[in-house]
Amino acid sequence: MPLPNTIAIDGPAGSGKSSVSFAIAQQIGYLFVDTGAFYRAVTLLALEQHLDLHHSGQLITLVERTRLDMTPELADDDRQFTFLADERDITCDLHSAEVDHSVSIIAADQEVRAALLNPQRLLAARGRVIMAGRDIGTVILPDADLKIYIDATLDKRAERRYEQRLRNGEPADLDEIRESLRRRDEVDSSRTNAPLLRAPDAIYLDTTSLNLEESIAAAYQIIQNGKPSLNQP
Ligand code: C5P
Repeated sequence: MPLPNTIAIDGPAGSGKSSVSFAIAQQIGYLFVDTGAFYRAVTLLALEQHLDLHHSGQLITLVERTRLDMTPELADDDRQFTFLADERDITCDLHSAEVDHSVSIIAADQEVRAALLNPQRLLAARGRVIMAGRDIGTVILPDADLKIYIDATLDKRAERRYEQRLRNGEPADLDEIRESLRRRDEVDSSRTNAPLLRAPDAIYLDTTSLNLEESIAAAYQIIQNGKPSLNQP
């Protein structure tokens, strides 16, 4: 059976969707598109330029004046893609605590979302793509060939982020990470425009009790068979 050409993977922060999507894309030779990077890039640039994060006009001017590009280029670090803003490689700055803190404000801006719609769809139009985000199955690619919603409990997601930070030698406070994720979930889920939502036709994958390898295997099984794995409701 041929694999689905366009695969939409949505889920909350820390659910494992990026790691799972990246690993499978590598395995099957698909393009991995992490759409969160677009919102992170706008946030980073807006912070750098001291813009008002609540001012749509300023943000839109920024988006219009900057060439944002995502490529599958890898490097000697643990990146899953390379993100360029006017040719400047900003990949490593996208996951700073400052960007984490403010990205939901930018992502809730209707005009920013509208401006970023086309670049995302253009990447998907190349085909053989796994696109991960919050609104891929609902808004960006409502006709995706396969939709998966990856989930995990807040505690588990916080624990993963905590361990990831420690592995990277970064400072980490579990309670602070849990609170930051909870706040981001709340904003992402309650915004009126393209909220984090499970598409009715998305297959649900709960990774709470799975490690990364098991999560990848479960998602891969869904991609191959179009069926949920055994641990699912
Ligand atoms: O997935 P990641 O944590 O990198 O996403 C960063 C933020 O970007 C999310 O918290 C969310 O606010 C926003 N986002 C979004 N829609 C997407 C992907 C990410 O609103 N498709």
